[in-house]
Amino acid sequence: MHQIWIPLKDIPAGGGEYEVDDQSVWQGPIAEFSLPFTIIEPLRGSVFLLPQDDGCLVRGRLTGRISAPCDRCAEPAEMAIDQSFDSFEPFPAQQSAQPHAQDAPRKHGKAAPAEPETDDDFEDVDAAVIRIAPSGQGVEISLSGLLWEEFLLALPTKPLCSAGCKGLCPSCGSNLNVAACSCKSESGDPRLATLRGLTIEKK
Ligand SMILES: [Zn+2]
Ligand SMILES: [Zn+2]
Repeated sequence: MHQIWIPLKDIPAGGGEYEVDDQSVWQGPIAEFSLPFTIIEPLRGSVFLLPQDDGCLVRGRLTGRISAPCDRCAEPAEMAIDQSFDSFEPFPAQQSAQPHAQDAPRKHGKAAPAEPETDDDFEDVDAAVIRIAPSGQGVEISLSGLLWEEFLLALPTKPLCSAGCKGLCPSCGSNLNVAACSCKSESGDPRLATLRGLTIEKK
């Protein structure tokens, strides 16, 4: 993955604007973790960084267009990415100890409380968004890491090829958008099958 680390001391006092359109920022982890995403229109990140005494304000927008497998039928579903973000990255807590620890900064996370977390590896590909510079002098922030995180946050949890996607037949696996299959009667929740034969007596 192409890493873009910006030393905070290089950012102008009034903040700095950065444009990122190097596709390897996203394509790198997509390929590395074999994620089922295809970039249709180049992703582009605009990030404004404003260093503070105890961290860095981050504001920006990520746009582009990708395709991901439909949650129901697994065919490619195209979707626009348009993610605005506004967050605060606090400095790593222990500046002197373990300057290369990959997980230390993440635990102190973003100021925003409800950032979704999962245990998937690709979520942690660049967990250290802000770190002590490898030289030991000063703090630097990862534009590539920020923009990969925002990409993950921008993804819908259940991408759909269309709102009315009929999905796959649970019995034979046919794509029901293409053609109806002959096992229609067996579709539905099997746990309810015994109830289907019942008639409700009306009083
Ligand atoms: Zn679908
Ligand atoms: Zn079927």
